[in-house]
Amino acid sequence: MNDFLKLHTANAVAQIEGYTPGEQPSDGNWVKLNTNEFPYPPSPKVREAILDELGGDGAKLRLYPDPISKNLRSKIGKFFGLSAENVIAGNGSDDILNLAVRAFSDPDKPILSLDPSYSLYPVLAKIQNSEFIELPFGDSMDIPFEKISSSRANIFFFTNPNAPTGVGFSKSDVERILNEFGGLVLVDEAYAPFAEFSASELVDKYPNLIVAGTTSKGWGLAGMRIGWGLANPDIINILDRVRDSYNLDRLAQAAGMAAFSDNEYYGNLCGIIKDTRDKTELFFESVGWKYFKSSSNFILVTPKNKNGKSGRDVADEFFKYLKSIKILVRYFPNCPAVCDSVRISVGTPEQMILLQNAVKDWISL
Ligand SMILES: *Cc1c(COP(=O)(O)O)cnc(C)c1O
Repeated sequence: MNDFLKLHTANAVAQIEGYTPGEQPSDGNWVKLNTNEFPYPPSPKVREAILDELGGDGAKLRLYPDPISKNLRSKIGKFFGLSAENVIAGNGSDDILNLAVRAFSDPDKPILSLDPSYSLYPVLAKIQNSEFIELPFGDSMDIPFEKISSSRANIFFFTNPNAPTGVGFSKSDVERILNEFGGLVLVDEAYAPFAEFSASELVDKYPNLIVAGTTSKGWGLAGMRIGWGLANPDIINILDRVRDSYNLDRLAQAAGMAAFSDNEYYGNLCGIIKDTRDKTELFFESVGWKYFKSSSNFILVTPKNKNGKSGRDVADEFFKYLKSIKILVRYFPNCPAVCDSVRISVGTPEQMILLQNAVKDWISL
């Protein structure tokens, strides 16, 4: 940073590194299993709705979009059995996470999360001058309930299912946190379409709950940036105060409406993805690689080389081997809790066969 910027950059910002997203290679010949995108196109209704909104000459783009995404909020509300007043729409769910930190962080109280978890949380907290605390999971990914409830934190980010482990937690786990923790609980449900349980059914019951969701993982629309927060109307009102006035553009609002109009399409494909996931887990079992039973559309697995060894170097070697044959997965060398593992998104059955063949080839190298 040059001297001029040293003098003028906000202290909190000068001290952080930004979030590092997964790679998005620009050429198309990769088996891309690194960012948990949906392996199928979105519903054909989405494409139609976008073209419709665009019209013959794109003239509607002259006009600002609906600032509060009113129709989309009620559509999302209906999907979750809630009313529009319980919903805020976001430019992806990262927008919702950011709004929650902006609205509810407090310089005197930390923001809490578990380790491992989504690595965007600490970045958002630090930008806002908040202390950030990560409590480690137990060895079998058990939740440190007592430590959570005795924490002084103002917000607790709980990723369910967890990323990057894929482990899903039950209704009673989530309710125990909601009952015992003294601050706001944000349940980040990016992967809920692949899980057994969603905390959306608890929104009416708990005034300290925010559920964040996204079309990026379960609706094939990561490229459109559509997310939501579900909470009681008082919380929604506060989040709206810090929201960008036009946070969803016209095409995103139209696409989101259409996505939530084709539940049959998505129910079917999420079923196929879960089935593909379970079969891929059985494969890892057959080669003796450890993994966490996933409730998501990805699997965190610990590669074991032909000498039976695992660890950071082995994971690194496996990651690089896959990359050399154009299979991209995610590897977290700087996260001690999971640096012996790689996170593999569940793709199509065909992609998973390519992956399995790559594993077999690598073991016998
Ligand atoms: C992908 C992901 C998000 C972000 O989703 P967007 O809607 O694309 O911003 C949030 N939380 C977790 C845990 C994720 O994996």
